[in-house]
Amino acid sequence: MPDRAGLAGATEKCGVVGVALADREAARPVYYAMYALQHRGQESAGIATHDGFQQHSHVERGLVGDAISEADLTDLRGSTGIGHVRYPTSGGLNTCCAQPFAVSFKSGSLGLAHNGNLVNTDELRADLEAAGHAFTSEGDTEVIAHELARNLLDADLVRAVKRTMDRVHGSYSLTIMHDEAVLGLRDPLGNRPLCIGALDDGYVLASESAAVDALDGELVRDVRPGELVVLDPDGSGFDSYRLVEEPEPAHCFFEHVYFARPDSVIDDSLVYEVRRDLGRALWRESGVEADVVMPVPDSGRAFASGYAEAANEEDAPVEFAEGLMKNRYVGRTFIMPTQDERERAVRLKLNPIRSTVAGRRVTLVDDSIVRGTTSTQLVELLRDAGADEVHVRIGAPPINAPCYMGIDMASREELIAADQSVDEVCDEIGADSLAYLSMGAVADALEAEQTGLCTGCVTGEYPYDVEGEDTDREVVPPEV
Ligand code: SF4
Repeated sequence: MPDRAGLAGATEKCGVVGVALADREAARPVYYAMYALQHRGQESAGIATHDGFQQHSHVERGLVGDAISEADLTDLRGSTGIGHVRYPTSGGLNTCCAQPFAVSFKSGSLGLAHNGNLVNTDELRADLEAAGHAFTSEGDTEVIAHELARNLLDADLVRAVKRTMDRVHGSYSLTIMHDEAVLGLRDPLGNRPLCIGALDDGYVLASESAAVDALDGELVRDVRPGELVVLDPDGSGFDSYRLVEEPEPAHCFFEHVYFARPDSVIDDSLVYEVRRDLGRALWRESGVEADVVMPVPDSGRAFASGYAEAANEEDAPVEFAEGLMKNRYVGRTFIMPTQDERERAVRLKLNPIRSTVAGRRVTLVDDSIVRGTTSTQLVELLRDAGADEVHVRIGAPPINAPCYMGIDMASREELIAADQSVDEVCDEIGADSLAYLSMGAVADALEAEQTGLCTGCVTGEYPYDVEGEDTDREVVPPEV
């Protein structure tokens, strides 16, 4: 699903890290973990550490390897630290919101790395400003920092975090550094992922378990919805505090469908296996006779292999092959700020393998359709390469509504399925047939109740009321 645009300001699909070690500088492990999370954000990268006396931080635009130098790592002293990679935005780079947000208050130094999006930022900011807090950025992370600093003035750390959690609404997975203590906090919905890993000489918090693997660590478990985890500064263990009595999870199903790395385990499920299961379910729900099944690289690969495997098991022999080759040196298309540039980028990025495609009935499998730009171009590309038929199968339900929970998708006007039926979308992208996966199949693959998942972008019903947005607007219901 490479056809997305950005929404400036919020801390969308970012990656966060937190590390506490016994007797080793934290900056380098944080840096490696950020590398493992680079897919979650390419606009900026930053690290904050604490050496027991003071906080050090370095934040720069660009990829991890460009933003942080060897000299920066040397300067980032201390055995505890947090890190952040930030998602790109389409409307120009936004340096004000690069993270970790690091600042000193009367209550001590604070560093925050945030993945998610608050839905009551304006209200909180106005309240804090009235109480004399001055802001340096538009970002919602600074609002959380000020709220936490205010609460730390007359409460211990855990109570202050609890009070902050009661005030901020929306999605957030946070790694926080208060002086040398490193904390991990997951919102009461568990909307954005966060996990704990054990290292030989300490503990790590990270958006995805692939970052724990990169440090040769072992995944301990996911941070639970509404849970605060406080790492011991000497790396000897961690304490857990359940800050919400009965959390009602609303995990983002899109993490498993698209955003997360396939080799990550999120909320107890290996993303790769979930995607294969979704592909299998896609065959069962809407399998179509074809000569070859091919993925949209790389996002559709696991779905397509599951789909082809299920077809072959059910006596509908079909070849599974790569029919589109990717130029890895072209940036992700959603970085392109205009529609024109995005369209050109698809052509630059993917090229068909004619011998796989020519004279054949092709099933093209992808994870999702957002604007439809990519799908339209890929169908055209395959027809130009001589495909007899092009059937499109999508491993998620139609995206009908924007995400207000922190995923940078597209506006309602840009979503191809927002006001069109599946047949109309099929016509628009020029395919012979189009089918999406049902929400029920997604829930089954995640071994979750549908009620335990956020489905806002499919149903238009969000787990929070969204400030200034009419979230009750009618959406075309999924037709599968
Ligand atoms: S609205 Fe969609 S993309 Fe956003 S959090 Fe919910 S499931 Fe994820």
